[in-house]
Amino acid sequence: MNDMKGKRVVVLGGAGFLGSHLCERLLRDGAAEVISLDNLITGDERNLADVAAVGRLLVVRHDITEPMRVDGPVDCVFNLASPASPIDYAQLPIETLRVGSLGTENGLRLAREKGAVFVQASTSEIYGDPLVHPQREDYWGHVNPIGPRSVYDEAKRYGEAITAAYARTYGVRTRLARIFNTYGPKMRLEDGRVVPAFVGQALRGEDFTVFGDGTQTRSFCYARDLIDGLVRLALSDVTEPVNLGNPREMTILEFAEAVRKAHGGGGRIVFMPLPKDDPKQRRPDITRARTLLGWEPKVSLEEGLVETLAYFRKVVSPRAAPHPQPGKTSVGASP
Ligand code: UDP
Repeated sequence: MNDMKGKRVVVLGGAGFLGSHLCERLLRDGAAEVISLDNLITGDERNLADVAAVGRLLVVRHDITEPMRVDGPVDCVFNLASPASPIDYAQLPIETLRVGSLGTENGLRLAREKGAVFVQASTSEIYGDPLVHPQREDYWGHVNPIGPRSVYDEAKRYGEAITAAYARTYGVRTRLARIFNTYGPKMRLEDGRVVPAFVGQALRGEDFTVFGDGTQTRSFCYARDLIDGLVRLALSDVTEPVNLGNPREMTILEFAEAVRKAHGGGGRIVFMPLPKDDPKQRRPDITRARTLLGWEPKVSLEEGLVETLAYFRKVVSPRAAPHPQPGKTSVGASP
């Protein structure tokens, strides 16, 4: 595949945050048809409302842990189906394990049957609480196999294993993207992740809920950049895992400050207990993506936050703000 023009593409998890951005991008790139399969457990078909008007998008409600049939040829299958925020996967532990294992294999079966490229959305979580910093793809990780995050981490590790096995055993053309923290419009305001949490809090004039002492680090990539990396990976012939993320690393306290600046004001910091097994540091080494895909992020955190705030402004009403509740991560209206 040289480009997405005229291609028929299946996006598993197409109604989710990244899935819906990907559908939009594929349609913009001239895909003949994009088929989104999603059971809406954490996705929302409203994320696809803008692009549905374009036509060429088929939105199907389907749980990919159940067998799936797609008629006609398929050039590429992207698997972005999974709860992805620590709060979501803690509340949906079995669903997360099943979609990462059975769901991923069903996606691989489809790709095998159709002779399609299979792109697996893996994650920096496969590195766990990393002992090597920054994280390179040859690091095998440091994961607690029975901790609260294990349902996601181990499902994604299994997802990589079965993807590699389908490539070796059946010759499926597979791609593995290890996605680091990504943010932007269409995240769920209440998904508990730090970006929608702080942005929602800034817009409602509430305090920022910093977990632990806020010295843990993350590196935030804007959704548009991430999707560009994913499409480049799909179009490449790179079968080994590739980190996709923004190497600019900051502490959570620095991130709160960045949100405050972008919003032009914001609340104080309130410290709350650090969740168990919360990784202390995270930053991608993106040498492989730079070298093999010619990819690197272009959107600065400052620009990305402006666009993200503009999106969330439409879904947050400051007057409807509930009082902050101790012990709650974030509260607010659904988009
Ligand atoms: N975090 C925080 N306050 C919040 C939500 C998250 O301080 O309201 C912290 C969390 O403990 C973690 C970091 O922000 O250290 C990123 O959390 P997130 O849930 O976004 O994703 P993770 O990278 O942990 O999967």
